Amino acid sequence: ILEAINLGKSYGKKEMKVDALKDINIEINKGEFVAIIGPSGSGKSTMLHLLGGLERPSSGTIKINNIDIGKLSDRKLAEYRRKEVGFVFQQFNLLPILNVKENIELPLLLGNEVIDENYINDIIGILGLTDRKNHLPSQLSGGQQQRVAIGRALANRPSIVLADEPTGNLDSKTTDEVMNLLKESSKKYNQTLILITHDVNIARRADRIINIVDGQVQKNTNKLQNL
Ligand code: ATP
Ligand code: MG
Repeated sequence: ILEAINLGKSYGKKEMKVDALKDINIEINKGEFVAIIGPSGSGKSTMLHLLGGLERPSSGTIKINNIDIGKLSDRKLAEYRRKEVGFVFQQFNLLPILNVKENIELPLLLGNEVIDENYINDIIGILGLTDRKNHLPSQLSGGQQQRVAIGRALANRPSIVLADEPTGNLDSKTTDEVMNLLKESSKKYNQTLILITHDVNIARRADRIINIVDGQVQKNTNKLQNL
């Protein structure tokens, strides 16, 4: 279980201060698929960065399985990120000189962790990349590159997958494929999937939609039914 309690985040100081998030209260269950929507600049990416321990809250609490991650030491927070979290971004951020398998294994190599070949081959299979294992990113389509990025996010067997507009650079057919893969993996490995999107059709596929407007959770989401 993942909880945000009176969570706030601001950037800058004094007159330059921006309240990116204000008094957020949410609870997300293990295995749940939550879509985060909202206008540009409303605080969606900030929310994901806090949940993934990339940044620390300015106020309030984030609890992951009852552990207050805001209070962890830098070292423990980095360990939380490395062990529990997988990030997928709109830009694929693959290393051009590494092949598909190497790109997927990279976080494990950097973390000096044991590589479970069976598991890695399993996710490469799920992602439909078995016959592309030895290809370089430049030899792949956009959708294939994003699948590699998803593989890299799954390499550490995360319990939480955080995706920031993962299909923002993809056409609609490829978007569908990538969404199916994210959902399939979250089911198979019982991962909590939290995904930011501007695409209403994607948001509709989630178990729940959280609408963030002006740094706050919009309570009245009935309107979404009409989207
Ligand atoms: P978009 O849909 O355009 O990606 P978003 O909802 O993800 O927008 P955030 O990136 O979370 O929005 O930004 C929320 C607010 O916080 C914005 O006003 C932004 O300028 C500000 N902000 C975000 N990150 C920083 C930072 N590192 N330093 C200063 N201000 C920041
Ligand atoms: Mg954003």
